[in-house]
Amino acid sequence: MYKSKLYKYSPIIFQELLINAKAIVYRLLREGRSYKLRVEQLLLNAELSREELISLSKAELSKQLLNAKNNCEYYKNINGFELTDFPIIDKELVRGSPNKFLSSVKTSLWTFSSQTGGTTGKPLELYADLDAIIEDHAQSARQLHWAGFKPGDKRIWLRADLVVPMEQSMEPYWRRNIVDEMLMMSVYHINEQTVSDYVDRINKYKPDVIQAYPSALYLLAKLIESQGLVIDVSIKAVILSSESFEPNQAEIIERIFNAKVFSWYGLSERVATVGTCKEGQLHLIEDYGYYEFDDKNILIATGFHNKKMPLIRYNTGDQFVGVENEIKPCDCGSSFRKVKAIRGRVGEYLVSDKGSKVSIFNHIPKGVVGLVELQLKQVEPLKILALIVTGKDFKKSSEIKLINNIKDYLGSGMVVEIIYLDHIPRTKNGKFRQAIYEVRD
Ligand SMILES: [Zn+2]
Repeated sequence: MYKSKLYKYSPIIFQELLINAKAIVYRLLREGRSYKLRVEQLLLNAELSREELISLSKAELSKQLLNAKNNCEYYKNINGFELTDFPIIDKELVRGSPNKFLSSVKTSLWTFSSQTGGTTGKPLELYADLDAIIEDHAQSARQLHWAGFKPGDKRIWLRADLVVPMEQSMEPYWRRNIVDEMLMMSVYHINEQTVSDYVDRINKYKPDVIQAYPSALYLLAKLIESQGLVIDVSIKAVILSSESFEPNQAEIIERIFNAKVFSWYGLSERVATVGTCKEGQLHLIEDYGYYEFDDKNILIATGFHNKKMPLIRYNTGDQFVGVENEIKPCDCGSSFRKVKAIRGRVGEYLVSDKGSKVSIFNHIPKGVVGLVELQLKQVEPLKILALIVTGKDFKKSSEIKLINNIKDYLGSGMVVEIIYLDHIPRTKNGKFRQAIYEVRD
């Protein structure tokens, strides 16, 4: 909708009308009776004993395996009904022939399609039935509940939606969604010149909860910090999702917004979710999917609820840290397994001057005063472009520190070129990439 000409060239008031009309349609679709019952059920599930949860998960898994085997071309020749009888699949495989994973049974009145992933090449086509959409919405409601959200609370929404056309260069960089009681802010317009407008608006709006892409809120936090601005409203919680983030980014966000950070992990493939409970622990949401981990702790997941496109043992490519083996009850009362952290997609890497792959970059910005955002792009074997957005306090010494840090991790033989930008481009889905390897073989 946001990319349509109708939206782009309409006056703001009409854009807000469209946003609210869309919100009403979504409400009608997603928040019927079955949704309300499901939210109640999910809250009860979070109180089940470990044994009860395991038996619920086993029953859901069996149903989904049977559905896949009976109704999908890809699975029809599987011998047996156990999970281990099914092969591990991945994005490439599904991308190659998505229709083979579609159930031949009409599972609901509508089928919803979406495209995801990939900065290059063919996108992944995904399909879902209405029940799966409602399930995701109900799961998200439980996460909001854990974060302290109450009906009627006001939210700031700072995700990838192009609510404000790129061409717009004047306030307001946000649109009102009255139906969902949220202010939808544009991530694409946050910069040194506009940050004080954002802060004024947030202070005036007085949100209870912020739902954001980590990179977007981190960018805002860094600019607020560098300009000495202050968020002076009391915010209950910040819910971050859709991208991985580092603990130090969460710390800065918590400090600037004076609110607890909750992480919510989900995939468009609808095979897994991970949420943060009231106690701040990350839990594998085991009434949503079945989770296995390979020897590198990469999550292999089977979603229970999308009967239209059952993906069994899907390799998510996301690496997990500290997955609980001996399950101890959490103070929040749930018996969902705990994990320490999600390291995110394996695959973003650069190559050092000695030829070794480097995939952890969170140390590089350390000690670089005034650095707001950094993206590293390797364009030649011995050349790194450091794309940066800086605050007022960025000095020549910061630049030297940054170059030294990059050389510490990628080798002294690396040539580093600094490129100053107002805004670092996002992927098509609005995500931020820390590192891009562009060397052609
Ligand atoms: Zn917990």
